[in-house]
Formats: sequence, structure tokens, C-alpha cells
Amino acid sequence: MAIETPIGFQRRSGELQADGVPLEEIARRYGTPTYVYSAALLEARLRALRSAFAALAPDICYAVKACANLSVLSLFARWGTGFDIVSAGELHRVLAAGGDPRRVVFAGVGKQRWELERAIDAGVGRFNAESAAELERLGAVARERGVVARVALRVNPDVDPRTHEYIRTGSKENKFGVDLDRAGEVIRAARAIEGIDLCGLHCHIGSQICEAEPYVGALRRIRAFFDDFGRAGFDHLDLGGGFGIDYGDGREMDFAVLASALQPELRAIGLPLVLEPGRSLVASAGILLTRVIEVKAGRDRSFLIVDAGMNDLLRPSLYKAAHRIEEVRPSGAPTHRGQVVGPICETGDFLCEARDLPLSPAGALLAVRDCGAYGFAMSSQYNARPRAAEVLVLEGRARLARRRESFDDLLRGELASDLLDG
Ligand SMILES: *Cc1c(COP(=O)(O)O)cnc(C)c1O
Repeated sequence: MAIETPIGFQRRSGELQADGVPLEEIARRYGTPTYVYSAALLEARLRALRSAFAALAPDICYAVKACANLSVLSLFARWGTGFDIVSAGELHRVLAAGGDPRRVVFAGVGKQRWELERAIDAGVGRFNAESAAELERLGAVARERGVVARVALRVNPDVDPRTHEYIRTGSKENKFGVDLDRAGEVIRAARAIEGIDLCGLHCHIGSQICEAEPYVGALRRIRAFFDDFGRAGFDHLDLGGGFGIDYGDGREMDFAVLASALQPELRAIGLPLVLEPGRSLVASAGILLTRVIEVKAGRDRSFLIVDAGMNDLLRPSLYKAAHRIEEVRPSGAPTHRGQVVGPICETGDFLCEARDLPLSPAGALLAVRDCGAYGFAMSSQYNARPRAAEVLVLEGRARLARRRESFDDLLRGELASDLLDG
């Protein structure tokens, strides 16, 4: 009888595993802190999105910034997604991972001329422009190169996605896109620019959005725009990403609910759909492994000091994001009000705020759940801490996808004062 390999992070005999590989084994082999990704879960998430949206047959462009490890990008390329990038550096990564430049959408505010040049030279398929000035810059570069760049205008539908203020991007008072009221005028001007083909509308209203309603609201406004302006010359509508995942509070975007809520407006608009999911494909497929260094008991709060800090996982400090933190092997330690903190010299260096948790003894291995998105991607070397290793479990085997940085990596490209030139 074939033994079915469990997908993702599940317990066997009480012990947490990744696609059937014990996390203790991975920690012993690669050390801590280490990010671990489950290829099976990545694929399952993509499959779930595709099947929920099957009737709409969207072009799915994975948002690289959520998790840009080459092995993850190359898996998505193998599985046939396009890529949503926000910098020339991300383009470099996609190309290195074997991604097809024609399936790349270049989004993001403040693209510089040299970035547009690189993207056009590489054959990037589409641009999402954020302003009239950017359309001019893009047109100039395209004319120089003798090509016509396909471009969508990012519009701001002024909806409130009811998410953290730092990840709200579709309301009036932020830097992204062009107000929908002004879009017609910008598009008419753009269509007079030689070198660009303004063929789409784009919006991306925020991140970690758990309800369909803000998307439906955005679509209603976009549909009203098309009804007024007409659809001539448009060949796609890019709805961005932002679909929320369950960080443990039970709230998440249900792909099927979203797809069916969007369907009436999308049918009325009648343009092929593009989606740019980041978090919803990768967040739950990654964890951060960290070991307890020391337990500091206090009267009404204890501190579990662990070997991962805000440089490794910034989300709790930056957004007050609450991640589930679990013992990989249950220690049986008593539960107490405690906070998991890192070794960095900042009070804001915590992996969770005070909560009831087992006071795991020194040496215990913890898994911070749902760190696949905006985890390693936002990590830094703050406090001269080499960045963590990244491990991918693929076909039931753990493989090193990025080696832990060394002390030499910390100094790369730097010179002491007596060695400076000039
Ligand atoms: C960040 C971003 C995404 C992905 O957002 P998620 O919340 O990770 O799904 C998609 N499109 C654009 C333009 C983005 O900036």
C-alpha cells in the first residue's frame, strides 16, 4: 500500500514536518534560523487558485516580491505562471530562474529610465504604468529601441480594503496609480504617444484582504469607467493581488467566493483577466525555524529569547503581524504569558507580542508559521547578522535553496578607510 506523503506542515507522532521531512532534521542539517518552503504546498495553492478561477481563465502572474528565491521562481516558471515584478532587480531574478520575459508584467511606482531600458531590452511583455510622466518615459525608451511597449494604466479606484494602513494601496490618499476620474484624460494622451500601446487597466488595492467586497467595489467603478470611455483598444484587465491568508485567526480570502463574486462584473466588462497574487500563493508554504537561546522568566511576562530576530522576520515589528509560533516537538513545558523576542538591540525586536505559550526550554526548536511571503524577502543584515538559510522541500527531500550567509558576505563590497581609493 502506498503511503501518502502529507502536504505542507503537518504533525506525525506529534512532531512537525514539512512534506513528510522532520523539521528537527532540517534544523540539524542546516542550522537556525532557517526558512523552509514546501513545494507541494506551493503547488497546491496555485492549483486551488486556478481551479477557483477556472471559468475566468486568468493569466496568473506571481508577484515576485513576496518570495523571490530562485528555486521558488523556477518552480512557478515550471508551473506556467507569469511574473509580476516591481524592479529591474526582480527582472534579473526572474530571468536567472528561467522565467519567460514575455510573461513578465513590470509594475511599481517610480520606475527609472534605466530600468525601463533594461526591461524593454529583455523583452518584458507588459508594463503597468503609474503616472502620465511614466508613460512619457516609457514611450521615449520604446521609440529609441524601435519597439512598441504594451502598457496598462494603474488606476486608483478609491476603495477601502480594510487592511493594515501600510498595505492599503487603492484609496485616494496614497502614491499609487492615477485617480479613476482622471484616467480617461491620461489614456487619451497616452494613445497619442508613439512607442506605447495602452491596452489595459490595472489596479491593486492592497494586501491581506480577506473579503471579496473591496474588489467588487473596485470592479464596479472600473466597469463604470469602461461604460463611459469605451473598451476600444483594451485587451486585458489586471486586478492585481492582495488576497489574504489565514494567519491563525480564521480570516482569509476564499478563492472560490472571490471568483464567483467577481464574475458578474467581469462578464459585464468582458476583458481577459490578469491576477498578480503574491502572499496567497506562498505565505502558508513557508515557515521560519528558530531555536530558543534562553528563557527569561518575569513575574507577569516571560521572554523566550530565540536566534531569529526582526532582521530575519520583520512583519511582527513592522505591521504588528501575529504569526502562529509552535514547538516542533512538544516540550511539555508549562504555559505562561510570554513573548518571543530576538537578540537585536531594539525593543521592537519581537516575533510575537505577549501571549500564552509554552515556556520552551533552551535548545527547543520553534516554527513560526506562514512566513513564506514577505519573510526572507524583507530580511536584512541589521546588527551584522548574516541572513538565514532557505531550504526547499521538493519531492519529499530537503534541499538548500540559499545557503546561510557568511561573515564574508557581511563585508562584501565594502572597504576600510585605509583602502578607499582617491
Ligand atoms: C505587492 C503587489 C502584488 C502582490 O500582493 P500580495 O498581497 O502579495 O498578493 C501584486 N501586484 C502589485 C502591483 C503589487 O505591488
